[in-house]
Amino acid sequence: MSESTDSPSANATFEQIGEVLRSNQSFVLLSHVRPDGDAIGSQLALGFSLLAMGKSVRMINEDGLPENLAFLPGSERIETPPAEPLDVEVAIALDTATKPRLGEAALHAASRAKLWLNIDHHISNPKYGHYNLIDATSPATGEILYDLITALDLPLPPETRDAIYVAVSTDTGSFQYPSTTARTYEMAADLVRRGLDVGTINSQTYDENPFRRLELMRALLNTLERSPDGIVAHWEMREQTRLDLALRPEDSEGLIDVIRAIRGVQVAVFFEDLPDGKVRVSMRSKDRELDVCKIAMEFGGGGHALAAGIRMKGPLEEAKQHVLTAIRKRVEETRKHS
Ligand code: 5GP
Ligand code: MN
Repeated sequence: MSESTDSPSANATFEQIGEVLRSNQSFVLLSHVRPDGDAIGSQLALGFSLLAMGKSVRMINEDGLPENLAFLPGSERIETPPAEPLDVEVAIALDTATKPRLGEAALHAASRAKLWLNIDHHISNPKYGHYNLIDATSPATGEILYDLITALDLPLPPETRDAIYVAVSTDTGSFQYPSTTARTYEMAADLVRRGLDVGTINSQTYDENPFRRLELMRALLNTLERSPDGIVAHWEMREQTRLDLALRPEDSEGLIDVIRAIRGVQVAVFFEDLPDGKVRVSMRSKDRELDVCKIAMEFGGGGHALAAGIRMKGPLEEAKQHVLTAIRKRVEETRKHS
């Protein structure tokens, strides 16, 4: 399963990507189901740069624009997939670890594209594009796009500037996770110099929680459990809670950080009933040795060493048992090695 260095689909250079962007006229930009700030932010960032180059651009997401990201300038351009395939030359997948995570309707909408670009920062990405730009050391796809846009001297309009900032801020827990580097702060400084309004954009990103999100947190706290050694903490959201509180998919985004932040906890897990009967598992680790991406991959999921997820078969109780057992196994193994 490991990424081999002699992979036939090595990364493209910025110049190769630039050539594809310059020499084609029509693009569809895609990101993963249940999009987060990095997914939508990446679409808007590259989308508005291409629009400023005079290109024809559609920005499609299987689940559309989440309410909490509607403050992003230009976000009204994010559409749910049209029923008929789009007449476009190039499809660009952003922030999406595997092609199926783009969603069936979105894939259908993009099915006429002759050329696929795949730009992402997930280590588990199998490089499914004709041209791939996968940098697992980058904290967000938004930062890869910043590097690409500035290196190629592509347009960086205000929509792109704000979208990059929100993409990186949300994927780094407000510039806090260890993936944040000096380059990340330099990028942020450059965006501020380009006119980004830090106070306003942060308050739009973080100080606009709908009340039901806090009600959800209260419900989650009532399910909180911790392993006897204090290493694993988990909580869960049942279907009834979703119905009672009239929750939207984005309402649970980021709440897992609350249990990740418990002293002594190395792995935090969030189990959630999905409307389709499947179970979504969200995992966070504080220790690279306890690689949650590897655990997610055992169940067909993926992500990063410190943040990963799965969509798996329900019911929740069973999914929980399987995943917690796999985590326990990893914890014991890691202990043996250290
Ligand atoms: P989150 O817990 O925030 O939903 O996701 C954490 C990370 O794991 C993200 O980078 C996300 O893209 C990835 N991830 C979440 N769910 C899945 C999944 O079902 N499959 C794969 N391959 N990756 C996932
Ligand atoms: Mn991301």
